[in-house]
Amino acid sequence: MPNCINFNEAPFLGSEFEHIKDAIDSKHISGGGKHTKLCNGILKKITGTKKSLLTHSCTAALEMSALLLNIEPGDEVILPSYTFSSTANAFALRGAKLVFVDIKSDTLNLDENLLEQAITKKTKAIIPVHYAGVSCEMDSILEHKIAVVEDAAQAVGSYYKGKSCGGIGDLGCYSFHETKNISCGEGGALLINSERYIEQAEIVLEKGTDRSKFFRGQVDKYTWVGLGSSYLPSDMLAAYLYPQLQSVEQINKLRLELWNNYHKNFEGLNIKRPFIPEHCKHNAHMYYLQFNSLEMRNKFIEFMDSKGIMCIFHYVPLHSSPAGKKYGRVAGSMECTENASNTLARLPLFYGMSLEVQSKIIDCARSFLAKL
Ligand SMILES: *Cc1c(COP(=O)(O)O)cnc(C)c1O
Repeated sequence: MPNCINFNEAPFLGSEFEHIKDAIDSKHISGGGKHTKLCNGILKKITGTKKSLLTHSCTAALEMSALLLNIEPGDEVILPSYTFSSTANAFALRGAKLVFVDIKSDTLNLDENLLEQAITKKTKAIIPVHYAGVSCEMDSILEHKIAVVEDAAQAVGSYYKGKSCGGIGDLGCYSFHETKNISCGEGGALLINSERYIEQAEIVLEKGTDRSKFFRGQVDKYTWVGLGSSYLPSDMLAAYLYPQLQSVEQINKLRLELWNNYHKNFEGLNIKRPFIPEHCKHNAHMYYLQFNSLEMRNKFIEFMDSKGIMCIFHYVPLHSSPAGKKYGRVAGSMECTENASNTLARLPLFYGMSLEVQSKIIDCARSFLAKL
């Protein structure tokens, strides 16, 4: 369709080129180089974490977490069903049984009040997902004294009671995939907030070797010491990412302006808008609307499509997916999860979207919503 408005466009500042050139000129482009270190430095500063390890994806950071927590067959891991497959897959790979709990109807985040009834003697970890970059209720989640891995894929630059999302649980996982606020196409980071995992994390990152120690001169040769894999991104990708991480506040500020525009313009209509708890500062990762029925939601997406505007629904609940049924079980009702899956539509929102384009989207959407 001509002049189609994309749902997402990868963020791009322009200064990425000079940093990539710098990486190429240095003749070192494998992982762990100059730009990887620069990115980890910024991530440490932004989040206040003890250690940041750049990875090639959030999926990789989640898989590293499962290895670090020593997840074994028979262990249980609690997570929302309303999330991306990687949140579950990383733990199923280690043989864990997935225990799905419902989300809250306001933030669409894991319902912290349902944890108690889902926890058993076998529970090894809780994986909260900060949906749309809005923080889960971390204080209640941490009260259970069970290891917490934050899937903060969508929450770079989001805060909970002044603390950086991803920097609150024992481990935190970021994504720099094309669809996220800060991006190098494919990328991620593991934030290690509990000291006890740092040494092992470096081994897991470096194909099971103590190569990191070798580079610091702490051992005189390096060797295979445990289980790991290849989780580092090339330094070229880190070079692309670096200027965006430097500009995280500016990028999120522009997204927030767009987000607030949507929010203001859909007020007073017969439609459910996102809810942001007072103690959460979000990063405007996503703007969505919730309709009264699946039919109405689908009609809205079709209508917007006919105007050349791409709107998209979101997750098919994992508990009802073929792999979710095989590797998981539900703990209680999944009413809110199914409702969100059936009724939610996401609107285009990306860095660089003009106000002119946005007002076209708003006008079209309002013309549909006014008839509800
Ligand atoms: C994007 C996303 C992931 C996966 O991130 P990758 O970097 O593509 O591996 C995992 N969990 C959630 C909630 C996401 O939104």
